[in-house]
Amino acid sequence: MKILNYINGVLQAPVNNKYLDNTNPATGEIYGNIPRSDAEDVEAAVMAAKKAFPSWSALSAGQRSNWLLKIAQAIEDRMDELALAESVDNGKPLSLAKAVDIPRARDNFKFYATAVLHDAYETHDMGADGFNYTLRQPIGVAGCISPWNLPLYLFSWKIAPALASGNTVVAKPSEVTPATAYLLSEILRDIDFPKGVLNIVHGLGGEVGASIVEHPDTQVISFTGGTETGKAISKVAAPMFKKLSLELGGKNANVIFNDCDFDEAVKTSVRSSFSNQGQICLCGSRIYVQRGIYDKFKAAFLSRVAGLTVADPLSQTSRMGAIVSKDHFEKVLSYIELAREEGGTILAGGHAVKLEGRCENGYFIAPTVFENLPIGCRTNQEEIFGPVVTLTPFDTEEEALLLANGTVYGLASTVWTTNLQTAHRMAAGLHAGIIWVNCWLNRDLRTPFGGVKQSGVGREGGFEALRFFTEPKNICIKL
Ligand code: NAD
Repeated sequence: MKILNYINGVLQAPVNNKYLDNTNPATGEIYGNIPRSDAEDVEAAVMAAKKAFPSWSALSAGQRSNWLLKIAQAIEDRMDELALAESVDNGKPLSLAKAVDIPRARDNFKFYATAVLHDAYETHDMGADGFNYTLRQPIGVAGCISPWNLPLYLFSWKIAPALASGNTVVAKPSEVTPATAYLLSEILRDIDFPKGVLNIVHGLGGEVGASIVEHPDTQVISFTGGTETGKAISKVAAPMFKKLSLELGGKNANVIFNDCDFDEAVKTSVRSSFSNQGQICLCGSRIYVQRGIYDKFKAAFLSRVAGLTVADPLSQTSRMGAIVSKDHFEKVLSYIELAREEGGTILAGGHAVKLEGRCENGYFIAPTVFENLPIGCRTNQEEIFGPVVTLTPFDTEEEALLLANGTVYGLASTVWTTNLQTAHRMAAGLHAGIIWVNCWLNRDLRTPFGGVKQSGVGREGGFEALRFFTEPKNICIKL
């Protein structure tokens, strides 16, 4: 697949004509090219978006909604092709791309297409002195930068609210997984989406991403990715007073109490540990289990982990596919080595997996479980973002909170208990942006989403995202 930029409604090569390799992580083979664009392409994209802004922002919410619904329908029509492209690009099982990633990307467009029709703004009555109303207007050109783990889903989660609110967009997908964003640009071309409203520029983070952030005409930046990248972006965007949303890394805790629904807690903990090879920002990587059920939980958890099939992502039986890239594969293996050096006991995995046939050179790692690692060690503090989890017993609710809250991150957490009071106390006490009680990854698109501490600032999702992409203006009218 030869990928092109999409600027001002035209699929085009980068100005410098430079390309990067695109690798299939399940086979290790280079299967295509990605533009290695630079500031010149970003400049063209921002100019196109600027030019398109007056007409796009002047459309009624209903008209913009219709365009987004057309995109959603086109994603639906090309569902199988998109799922296959995402699986090949990312290494995730095709079944997961089909069941989760692509349908959720379609639903993001559908949600914002309809949400924008039902949003309402504030009025404040001052009695005889008059009243105020808040007018929320689109900001202008939005810069949207996304990561590789849920490529089209996270890309669309930024683009859809930005467009629905009346902004035009310059977007950059991850250079590691560009294929579905490219197919989206084909969709835009095929449905005659208005030129310049959504521009997609491919390339490296330090080049294209940095140019988008630095550009004086991108007054709002929505970023999802690693915490260190978020810090670098803040340093540039903050002195320019850009509106900024940062969705960053995590080190999520699963807290499992003696009185939980045991089978459900075990089953879901395996899923929340190893879905997408542990490469979901919301995956739990530290599992704290109350001592009364610790041994029983450990045995049941390990027995299920043993049943996870690491296999060719395109095979029906694959439950775990490839790690997204060679660099990331090596990083995850280095963390496994570190956990050993830190004194961790390996209960499962702890090694790369060599498959036969088509995938013999792919980047596969066995689901890995450690125990006997203290909270302060690097394995329990740093985001690994792979199929590696630690198991630790705890005694009291207070101890569970101290352990779960004991990192710089605060993205998500799960709590497993049948005691309503415990559930409420834990949910209130956990420092995280989202707490799932007796479930994981259940999403209601109406709710705000995001992390606390070094997991991010700002919120995506729901009406919150529609408002993020607007500038509120207060109008006071004297009666
Ligand atoms: P990354 O930070 O390396 O890259 C993310 C995006 O930023 C990519 O498109 C990249 O090209 C770009 N980028 C890199 N350097 C840049 C710079 N200096 N300026 C502008 N853009 C730049 O992250 P990744 O490795 O692609 O993704 C994994 C990370 O994303 C993990 O830390 C994970 O937790 C996080 N993540 C967070 C969420 C969330 O909602 N909080 C969701 C998914 C992933």
